[in-house]
Amino acid sequence: MTSKANFISNAFVPPASGVYLDDIAPATGECIAKIPRSNAADVDHAVAAARKASASWARTTVAERADLCDAVASRIAARADELAQLESLDTGKPVKLAATLDIPRAVANFRFFAGAARHTSTAAHEMDGALNYTLRRPLGVVALITPWNLPLYLLSWKAAPALVMGNAVVAKPSELTPLTASVLAEIFKEVGAPAGVFNLVHGFGAEAGQALIEHRDVAAVSFTGGTATGARVAHAAAPLFKKLSLELGGKNATLIFADCDFDAAVEGAARAAFLNQGQICLCGSRILIDRSIYDRFVEALVVRVRAMRVGDPRSPETTLGALVSAAHRDKVEGYLTLAKSEGGTILCGGKRPSLAPPFDRGAFLEPTIIAGLSTKSRTATQEIFGPVATVHPFEGETEALEIANGVRYGLSASLWTRDLSRAHRVAAALETGTVWVNTWLLRDLRVPFGGVKDSGVGREGGVHSLEFFSESKNVCVKV
Ligand code: NAP
Repeated sequence: MTSKANFISNAFVPPASGVYLDDIAPATGECIAKIPRSNAADVDHAVAAARKASASWARTTVAERADLCDAVASRIAARADELAQLESLDTGKPVKLAATLDIPRAVANFRFFAGAARHTSTAAHEMDGALNYTLRRPLGVVALITPWNLPLYLLSWKAAPALVMGNAVVAKPSELTPLTASVLAEIFKEVGAPAGVFNLVHGFGAEAGQALIEHRDVAAVSFTGGTATGARVAHAAAPLFKKLSLELGGKNATLIFADCDFDAAVEGAARAAFLNQGQICLCGSRILIDRSIYDRFVEALVVRVRAMRVGDPRSPETTLGALVSAAHRDKVEGYLTLAKSEGGTILCGGKRPSLAPPFDRGAFLEPTIIAGLSTKSRTATQEIFGPVATVHPFEGETEALEIANGVRYGLSASLWTRDLSRAHRVAAALETGTVWVNTWLLRDLRVPFGGVKDSGVGREGGVHSLEFFSESKNVCVKV
């Protein structure tokens, strides 16, 4: 079994404590690696290395930094098969999904932000007798804290814009899914990144993560994770006046109108609910259906979902792999018990599948659809973050919007209709950061990404990421 190390100043170093955590493969329950349980001393070491590197890194040209990101993208692409296998092993997701979504998007993130930085411009404001122009300057050392559901994809989404804007990075991935971040560290070394520009500290969020966000020399924190953790991060970072980007949880609605393309909407709703075992912040876990087609739609949805194959993540036939851990499956199953006590009826799924060894010890759960719940019930309003969706009828746009907007989250929604005017009207009225019309998870890396209400603060993506990872300075010249 391999032991992983922290990556500081281009060297792989053991944790100061000498203590290691088990990295468990959720599909089999096997321990696949030992990872450092880092503490404040490791964080200090990494931040000092980043701080030392940041001054000279900030003086490099945009072209040099963009070239580094392009080189990283090429190496990720070259190691794509290995990375897809590791991502699947660590998260339990199907290899096919990692190979077609996670890893290609990590490549795309590094390539995109290299190009975006090369083509970015800043503003000038002329006034009578003077000219103002805006400079964008790096922040120094930035902390990147990422969750377990899309490990390399979300780390690359933050690391690429941070680096290309001239910052040095200290990353803390989820301790549940550390493996691809370690390969990314190897890749930075392989492509000749200057020492200290990219640093990686493994360990628990409450220890290494907390020490990182509280560190005086960390200028900004980009955090993606749960809403409750986001509140803790904000609480620690705000009094230190750190720049903060929070991408948090969701309880996203899929709105099905009677005039939709029926088959496309069934397929879209099923995919939105269960891709990555329902563990994507954007998953459509509340499916709201026009009452006039409710019975027919739910019947077709259940048929579609029953056809999904749960099991061996290595098999190309598998639709759903394991959940990220046995503890997380317990939490999701807790919601199934709650749903029954709240009056819900499980239409399909709700059980652990029976699988042959070694997957009989894995954290698998069948994709589950629940009907009959109040739209205000806890099951229908709290983020479950697993393969569980609830279905609810509505009558008319007003009620659909009331239900969709009636939760404390506001990350995304998708709506399915052939009526163009309705699509624009409903999209404008939904209280979310993203709305998809007749599609889901279609991403253009230039567009603003983030949530409203309890789903987050700030936007990342395109110029928003470049702006977050830099400080603007106005220069006023008397002419
Ligand atoms: P989480 O428990 O909030 O953890 C996220 C990250 O924060 C992990 O690296 C975690 O480390 C770390 N962390 C935990 N406590 C911390 C603390 N006190 N200080 C600093 N860092 C700390 O979230 P998760 O369970 O990994 O991920 C699932 C959640 O992420 C869901 O709510 C999902 O909706 C959300 N998410 C949001 C987006 C988005 O773009 N809006 C995207 C993906 C996921 P450990 O794991 O080591 O504790």
